[in-house]
Amino acid sequence: MNLYNTKTRTIEKFVPNNESEVTMYTCGPTVYHYAHIGNLRSYIMEDVLEKSLNYVGYNVKRCMNITDVGHLSSDSDSGEDKMLKGAMREHKSVMEIAKMYTDAFFDDCKSLNIKKPEIVVPATSEISTYIKIISKLLDTGFAYKASGNVYFDTSKLQDYYTLTNHQIDDMVVGVRESVEYDENKRNQADFVLWFTKSKFENQELKWDSPFGTGYPGWHIECSGISLKYLGEYLDIHCGGVDNIFPHHTNEIAQSESYLGHEWCHYWFHVEHLNDESGKMSKSKGEFLTVSLLKAKGYNPLAYRLLTLASHYRKQLVFSYDNLDSFQNTYDKLINKINIIRENISGEFDKDNFDLYNSKFIDALSNDLNTSSMLTVLYDVVKSDINSYTKIELIKNFDKVLGLDLLKSDNEFTNEEINLIESKIEERNKAKADKNYKRADEIRDELKEKGISILDTREGTKYRRI
Ligand code: AMP
Ligand code: ZN
Repeated sequence: MNLYNTKTRTIEKFVPNNESEVTMYTCGPTVYHYAHIGNLRSYIMEDVLEKSLNYVGYNVKRCMNITDVGHLSSDSDSGEDKMLKGAMREHKSVMEIAKMYTDAFFDDCKSLNIKKPEIVVPATSEISTYIKIISKLLDTGFAYKASGNVYFDTSKLQDYYTLTNHQIDDMVVGVRESVEYDENKRNQADFVLWFTKSKFENQELKWDSPFGTGYPGWHIECSGISLKYLGEYLDIHCGGVDNIFPHHTNEIAQSESYLGHEWCHYWFHVEHLNDESGKMSKSKGEFLTVSLLKAKGYNPLAYRLLTLASHYRKQLVFSYDNLDSFQNTYDKLINKINIIRENISGEFDKDNFDLYNSKFIDALSNDLNTSSMLTVLYDVVKSDINSYTKIELIKNFDKVLGLDLLKSDNEFTNEEINLIESKIEERNKAKADKNYKRADEIRDELKEKGISILDTREGTKYRRI
């Protein structure tokens, strides 16, 4: 499998440290609000990566943190604490906010067929791990105390900016955000490992430590959790492109100084999904969540399909027109597959199975070329190979694509079937009478009941939204 590696800026053949198990770390959500569909683009692509590795035969051990402490809203160490901000907004405690949005995040993942990683660790549960790492960094001179906080000394590293192409002046912490400069730092790029001097008087979560009562910086949680659960040699580390700097840059600095050797070789970053006005936001404009898409009548898997149609390293702009067209494509695809299933015939055709399956593997091995993977799927659907073999191929491809291509649409009660069919009949009559207003009303009535209908050459099909 070939993958683009942010660290070497090239597409490389993926070679894990241990062929029997690939270790994969994913930066998890900051649970101060719902995830927007941009965040979820990153998680969909990481899910496709994990499932692709499984598809080519690797056993994957995957870990994700839940950021429930320490994530400041700007790159500066003096920004606002995101969790505290969420708790204040909703008049709840930080832990209540964390629980509520962690649950909401995994509900969204479920709707999008994103598999929950085998190991999920809230940042607040590993404080002693961070203390152990920070203590060693202090002992070995990679960290220093200043005015109550513990900082990482970036001047101790040969190549702090190993993940980025940027020059130091473009990247210094604080400059981009035009926030106050932290006078306690020895170097502009230094970052906090442990805070005791919080500018937030009502900081709820604090722990005792050898460096004073306080709380960890944001970056140390991922180093700590990854080292504890996945060991000293990590195969792949993932996140959105905004994580490259400062978060992942700082993770590398801490982890490799702590370990004394390279920690993770492959760095996988997903480009952003933007809205038409630019950067996607949780506070300005329409807050694009999975629940909003559902409320508007879209199937979340139509959004998954939309993301799969583009390469993960290209920026993507979200629009409802685009989502409409993917909803349509999705419905048609499911409809075609249902027709294949209804007319199943033939025997397993190994030659054609191997031919299309190897095309699919070529596409995923080519730096996760999801749009080519979809092309192979469409080619199978329209090919003239027998329907039994088609379904076998679709079943396999869906292990990676996660589009519920073969989920039964017919999980309706008899009562529901009677109602839907009588509505469809009424609608057909209305259309025949050219009463399109009534026909649309019936479509909307069914939509309200969570049922979408699709007119096809074979008649009107229906499914749950
Ligand atoms: P956060 O909850 O802010 O920690 O972000 C969760 C994940 O979403 C991280 O991997 C981010 O890099 C990623 N992310 C943030 N914004 C976007 C976006 N607009 N498009 C894609 N991924 C994003
Ligand atoms: Zn992280």
